[in-house]
Amino acid sequence: MKGRGAVSFIDDDSVVGKKDKDIANQKKKNARTFSKLVRDAPDIDNIFKKNKFDKSDVKQQQDIIDEMYDYIDERSKKQSIEFAKLHKIIINKKKFSAKAFNDLNIGAAELYLEEMRDHIVEEKIYKNIVKDIYTTYILAQKPGNIEGVSASGTLAILNVGTNDAAWTEIQRIGKKDGCWTCGTSMGAKDAANWIADHIPPVGLKKDIIDDVNAAYKKHFVFGKYNLHPSCVDCSRDQSGLVRDIIKEYSNRNTIPDIKNVVWNDKLKKMIVGGSDKNTIPTTKKDTTDLKDNWDGKAIQCHICGKKKSTSKDTAYTADHYPPKEFNTSYAQSCFHLLGLKVLKPMLYPQCIKCSCKQGSLSSDSKKLIDAARFFGITVNKGFF
Ligand SMILES: [Zn+2]
Ligand SMILES: [Zn+2]
Repeated sequence: MKGRGAVSFIDDDSVVGKKDKDIANQKKKNARTFSKLVRDAPDIDNIFKKNKFDKSDVKQQQDIIDEMYDYIDERSKKQSIEFAKLHKIIINKKKFSAKAFNDLNIGAAELYLEEMRDHIVEEKIYKNIVKDIYTTYILAQKPGNIEGVSASGTLAILNVGTNDAAWTEIQRIGKKDGCWTCGTSMGAKDAANWIADHIPPVGLKKDIIDDVNAAYKKHFVFGKYNLHPSCVDCSRDQSGLVRDIIKEYSNRNTIPDIKNVVWNDKLKKMIVGGSDKNTIPTTKKDTTDLKDNWDGKAIQCHICGKKKSTSKDTAYTADHYPPKEFNTSYAQSCFHLLGLKVLKPMLYPQCIKCSCKQGSLSSDSKKLIDAARFFGITVNKGFF
């Protein structure tokens, strides 16, 4: 459409004396050109009125058509300039191509530009998501001059196993420096390492709580909990037990019985609570406010009664910095795309309490996946 269509001009001399039929034919041709231009160009019929056009003589019509072409040329030039301007701003350039744009008539081009403007607004939202994630998980958690272990290769995105050389190194640094997040050593005397167990466990849905009440003559109200201090070892066992209970209830072939899984007294304490000393009522899943409550008090594990939160062989967790969810290639591409510095992946020793706190991480990593896809970055789903 951007090239000028062939309009045959008839000079005045030849019009004189021509048959009415020829004039009528030319008028028909002009009318076709007029409708074609109206189809191609938005709002052009507001400027060039069909009524007026129909009443005009052939010469006037051809002038109008000429003006229409000029108008379209002008619009088209402006659109090309805007395309270039918008395309420059857009991060995911693959989505909008100059070739596709140039093939459009100015009506379709207008819609294309509209789409680009919308896309820029959306990109802003995704840009902020990426920046927020970068600030929260990378800038705000920046380690100082703490000794760490390089986590290049697969260690950057996978859990560090107890057989890895990095693991041994993490234990050595941990014994020397303590947890890189809170500074405490595992087994230190204060409450830093005590884990707050929700009783009943937050992982159990209402129907299971009802069964717990029936089986153990309790009166738990779903959504209300008591926090009990638990040692690291018992807390780990409790997580395993909750998983087993959920598995028991998800088996459709048998009628679930809580006592099939919770079959001894120690396990029962993990579900209904042991000693009531130092418990705190809550309705929240989060336990960050706890430190003040338990700090300095003589704490005992409500399950096994131990007075130390960790056993001799309790190990430090090899914590990833940046978190391994953000060491993936898609995450790094996102940061890189926005000019945010991609950091070398490292491992640091972390105490069990701090390593249990990373709750919001998985929902944020989902957001980052969405952002990556929006920016046209390939996300390898294998890790998730
Ligand atoms: Zn810590
Ligand atoms: Zn214990």
